[in-house]
Amino acid sequence: RAKSQQRAGHFYFSRSMGVEIRERVRMMHALRTAFGQNQLFVVYQPQIDLFSRRPVGAEALLRWQTPDGKFISPDRFIPIAEYSGLIIELGEWVMRTACRELVALRAAGHEDFTMSINVSQVQFRHPHFLDMLRRALSDTGAPPEYVELEITESMAMEEPDLLIKMLAQIKQTGVTIAIDDFGTGFSSLSYLQRLQIDRLKIDRAFVTEITGSARGSSIAEMVIQLGRNLGLAVIAEGVEDERQAQILHTLGCPLAQGFLFARPMTNQALLGWLGNDALAGVA
Ligand code: C2E
Ligand code: MG
Ligand code: MG
Ligand code: MG
Repeated sequence: RAKSQQRAGHFYFSRSMGVEIRERVRMMHALRTAFGQNQLFVVYQPQIDLFSRRPVGAEALLRWQTPDGKFISPDRFIPIAEYSGLIIELGEWVMRTACRELVALRAAGHEDFTMSINVSQVQFRHPHFLDMLRRALSDTGAPPEYVELEITESMAMEEPDLLIKMLAQIKQTGVTIAIDDFGTGFSSLSYLQRLQIDRLKIDRAFVTEITGSARGSSIAEMVIQLGRNLGLAVIAEGVEDERQAQILHTLGCPLAQGFLFARPMTNQALLGWLGNDALAGVA
């Protein structure tokens, strides 16, 4: 009986895997074509100072809209871009696009504005990553101090020594580093202390929990405290309602990002948004 179950299980597994791989290959080709045909673009989500309610920066987020108008989520296509290696080119393009946008925002008078850019671990590990970063900065004229790279906590967990060395080199370019989706991994305090990072981004899951049970805010609270102890800035992501913003503010979280304040938007929309709503303070 055990044997037939095993076989049945095996059959099911390999068949679904075949479908899975075929789908991945299909998407890999579609993504490459989409990139070549300019179906990919970058949107920007404002980041807010919770005390003044003023925008202080934005996060660049990649979008893929197919010719029939459908959006494909980066949570689906980024892994495919990583798997196929396209992320190297794609990531460089995002980096340069976001840096150019930062320069445009500065020219429009938003001189204290920062730009956060997500970096995949595949990109990060690429031997030419540092060169790519330096070139993006110098070609676009983006001031490094206003550029932030977001790496995920899970990425920070692998190969600690390599990461520590890489971060030290990256920091020499002048850019800042944030740990994205913080709280979902298991970084120890002593390890975090060894990393040259500037910011922790509280994962949306913990922001959502804040208004739930009595203990719901404990992880967010811990991250805010951790940031304070380590001298790191903390930003909460996925803030969707006013109560969450209030609680975060009360807990001493200085920065936030989320649909409550603004959705990710095109560069043109961001310029307009900064010109209007932002001057009056948001939410
Ligand atoms: P992330 O970096 O953690 O980005 C935050 C995600 O939360 C974004 O989803 C954003 O649109 C969404 N979000 C922001 N505020 C709210 C809110 O109030 N409520 C809800 N429900 N969601 C909110 P998005 O744009 O779909 O991106 C998903 C993930 O894909 C990103 O997570 C990031 O890991 C990855 N990604 C996006 N763009 C890039 C990129 O250019 N390069 C790389 N390597 N990864 C990217
Ligand atoms: Mg991010
Ligand atoms: Mg995140
Ligand atoms: Mg995420």
